[in-house]
Amino acid sequence: MAVKDRIPPVERKPEERAKDFEEVSLGYTEELAILEAKRCLQCKVPTCVSGCPVGIDIPGFIKEISKRNFEKSYRILKSYNSLPAVCGRVCPQEVQCEGVCVLNKAGKPISIGNLERFVADWAMQNNLEDKITIERKINKKIAVIGSGPAGLTNAAEMAKRGYVVDLYEVFHTPGGVLVYGIPEFRLPKAIVNKEVAFLEKLGVNIKLDIPVGFAVHPMELLETYDAIFIGVGAGTPKFMGIDGTELNGVYSANEFLTRINLMKAYKFPEADTPVKFAKNVVVIGGGNTAMDAARSALRLGANVTVVYRRSKVEMPARKAEIEHAKEEGIKFQTLTQPVRYIGNNGRLVAIECIKMKLGEPDSSGRRRPIPIEGSNFVIKADMAIEAIGTQANKLLLSQFEGLELNKWGYIKADDYGKTSLPKVFAGGDIVTGSATVILAMGAGKKAANAMEKFLY
Ligand SMILES: Cc1cc2nc3c(=O)[nH]c(=O)nc-3n(C[C@H](O)[C@H](O)[C@H](O)COP(=O)(O)OP(=O)(O)OC[C@H]3O[C@@H](n4cnc5c(N)ncnc54)[C@H](O)[C@@H]3O)c2cc1C
Ligand code: SF4
Repeated sequence: MAVKDRIPPVERKPEERAKDFEEVSLGYTEELAILEAKRCLQCKVPTCVSGCPVGIDIPGFIKEISKRNFEKSYRILKSYNSLPAVCGRVCPQEVQCEGVCVLNKAGKPISIGNLERFVADWAMQNNLEDKITIERKINKKIAVIGSGPAGLTNAAEMAKRGYVVDLYEVFHTPGGVLVYGIPEFRLPKAIVNKEVAFLEKLGVNIKLDIPVGFAVHPMELLETYDAIFIGVGAGTPKFMGIDGTELNGVYSANEFLTRINLMKAYKFPEADTPVKFAKNVVVIGGGNTAMDAARSALRLGANVTVVYRRSKVEMPARKAEIEHAKEEGIKFQTLTQPVRYIGNNGRLVAIECIKMKLGEPDSSGRRRPIPIEGSNFVIKADMAIEAIGTQANKLLLSQFEGLELNKWGYIKADDYGKTSLPKVFAGGDIVTGSATVILAMGAGKKAANAMEKFLY
């Protein structure tokens, strides 16, 4: 008989976790995982699978957990998803697999993300070797540009199929947003590193500190390689462009999070990179990036307010992150838009904002925010972090002669990652604009299928 209530994972208390960068959620113990797995109805037509962009056999891996066959469960999971410990932690399950689990009708869906994480962590803790069988070695060379989830997945897939794969990354650490964007308290970097190490076992040659377009010209890659996958993400920050943007204390979320996550500035002076310690921080935006920046600033000791121009209902961040942010004491000033940064001697001291109301839905389906005339007010702030979105890096793409871009500057590619250049495939945020880890991984995998067809 299925258990009714969804089993929550073990979590650290807000007052304790808000002071450090250690992981917030501790996940399931073996017993809790088995209890939760037993709630699954093992549906004959599992709707959950249709909600997973890489089509994991969800009832299959859950059934093995319920029987305590953790290794078998891991093998099933890993055959569909090369980064399960990452996806279990960061996928927006409420709009994917869990959002379409049949149990939504009668109560709470199965906690698929926490079960995925449990199995992946169990495999790591038990040093389970990945059984890698590379069927054939093919004397064809692939260049993958960018080591985010799209590039990592494409590189792993092509290596598994026997191709020689060189993976180019501009940073000194592979992982893309997983290492420079998402903080330790949500996704420990040791976990990402272990999952990346899997690629090295597959024989992928990871070439770090190489900005393609500067250190290597893309046309040179086209001459050297049989096929190229572009997975460079959409990492160029957008700014609101309001008065005072140049003031000391105004950051893009990219810069702030890169300092914190990649350069470990929260450990300064033990780490070389500093970050400004502020008293009153205002984070502008309502997505995962805004939540990550706000919760990072809180952990540096600041009072943090998230300013968002719509209401909480329209916030695109994962539900769990909004809840965690609230529990940790972050304030939310919704239906509010900054209009001007106010400085003193070149330093930010306050932000002038205007109140908003919601109008008709716009092209994103969310209700459009409209300023309320005369409602201006001032918030005290010595740091502002803009997390209002990112865009494509145009410099690199302009160097690929003949590569077609869409009107927003992203690469034009079909559902299989094919671009306007025969040898060149692309996927992830550089095609879709900012999206999710699992969609980027799905795109990397689909492109691998198309690349294989092209090369065979
Ligand atoms: C702060 C933050 C939090 C997020 N939280 C979540 C979340 O909780 N859940 C979720 O599903 N999604 C989340 N996302 C979105 C998700 O991380 C992205 O959709 C995903 O990482 C896109 O993968 P990608 O491989 O396309 O690009 P990226 O992860 O951006 O990786 C691109 C890689 O290419 C490299 N690169 C760029 N240009 C060059 C060049 N010229 N030469 C060589 N290398 C280059 C970059 O350094 C980077 O390593 C978040 C994003 C951010 C910024
Ligand atoms: S839809 Fe829900 S209950 Fe049914 S198999 Fe999937 S996870 Fe289990």
